[in-house]
This record gives sequence, C-alpha cells and structure tokens, in this order.
Amino acid sequence: MQMPDPRMIQLVMSLRGGGVTDATVMGALERTPRHLFVPQRFGDQAYDDRALPIDCGQTISQPLIVALMTQALKLDDRCKVLEIGTGSGYQAAVLARLARRVYSVERYRTLSREAEARFEAMRLSNIVTRIGDGSIGWPEQAPFDRIILTASAPTRPDAILEQLKDGGIAVAPVDRETRQVLVRYVRECDSITETDIMDVRFVPLVKGEARAL
Ligand code: SAH
Repeated sequence: MQMPDPRMIQLVMSLRGGGVTDATVMGALERTPRHLFVPQRFGDQAYDDRALPIDCGQTISQPLIVALMTQALKLDDRCKVLEIGTGSGYQAAVLARLARRVYSVERYRTLSREAEARFEAMRLSNIVTRIGDGSIGWPEQAPFDRIILTASAPTRPDAILEQLKDGGIAVAPVDRETRQVLVRYVRECDSITETDIMDVRFVPLVKGEARAL
C-alpha cells in the first residue's frame, strides 16, 4: 500500500477544520495530487491551503474553496457538469472523480492545453475541454445538471444559468461592489433561488476569447 503523503494528511485536517464534511468530496481531493497542477517552482507549496500563481497571470484556487464549492454542488455519478475557467485543471479533476462527465471551458489556449495533458497523464477520460469564451456557457452541450464558475462574474451570470437543468445547482463567485461573494443557485422550473455562501477572491470572468497565449 502507498504511504499517504504527510503534506496531504495535514491539508485534509485543515479542510476538515474549514467545514468540509462530505467524505466523498474529501476522498476526491485526496486522490488528486495538487503538485501535478502547480508550476514546478511552487511545488513545495502545493499542499498549502492557498491559491498559487499559474501561467497567463491566472491562479489555481485554494484547496478549501475547491472543496467547499464541490461540496455545495452535491454531485453524483450521473451528473453532467459545466465548469467555466479550466485554469490548471485542478477543480475539473476533482469534479471528474464525482461526476459522470465534466465540460470545462478556458479562454487561454496555453492553460487549456496544459490542463488537458494533465488529465491524460492521470487517465481522467471524462473531462471534455474547450478553448473559448465561457461567459456564454457551452450552448451546444446544454443543459447541465451542475455548473461551476471559477472566475468572478460582474453580475448574476444569467446566460450561463439558462443552461442549468430543472432541479440543477450552480455555484459562482459574483462581484458585489467592493466584495466577491460565492453564490449557490438552484433552478426550480423557471425560477432561480440564490443563497450566499461566503466571501471569496477569484480572478475576473473576462468576456471574449483571449487574443494571445
Ligand atoms: N478552476 C481553475 C481556476 C483557474 S482561475 C483551477 O482549478 O485551477 C480562473 C480561470 O478562468 C482562468 O484560467 C481564466 O483564464 C479563466 N477565465 C476567465 N474568464 C473566462 C471566460 N470568459 N471563459 C473561459 N475562461 C475564463
């Protein structure tokens, strides 16, 4: 049997302290080695509970936030999930362990390609990537059981929430004046109820495709 990485044990303990109660979510994080998703120069900080820089001026999210967002989605293995903002691919890899299929959109080609190489190396074959503007969702694949935004929307992301199935759940950071709030949306028929979860800090959701990189 493989010895558990002591850095991972410590991370799991801090996630527990931060409110991660769902054992399946914890298991998904434990089986997703974060050092494979961070630039080599940050390898020694891969298991710290903090966001880290990745290419293209973006960030890999803090593990606690990844866990809490995943937990808020209440996933099961029948779920078809949309993620906006592939970034390093870490959040997508965690989702892929709990859902049937993950569709992940990223505006930077470099990041999308790098993430795809990681998914392949880890044999995560249920993640479909796309390079483009995720602020319009992924119309060709809609509707989705679950949707997650990992970049902060300037206002309620209605165009994306349109692609949520009846009974579906979405989580997204949304700008509120000087703050960003993580919001959970639930669609019931044509109405959407929303609940604030906590204050967060994400990179902004940028409209349009990236010109370079
Ligand atoms: N889920 C990522 C977090 C990456 S940060 C991870 O686990 O590492 C958010 C990402 O959203 C960035 O890579 C950024 O380029 C991307 N992004 C921002 N606006 C976007 C848009 N309109 N469409 C697609 N991706 C976008």
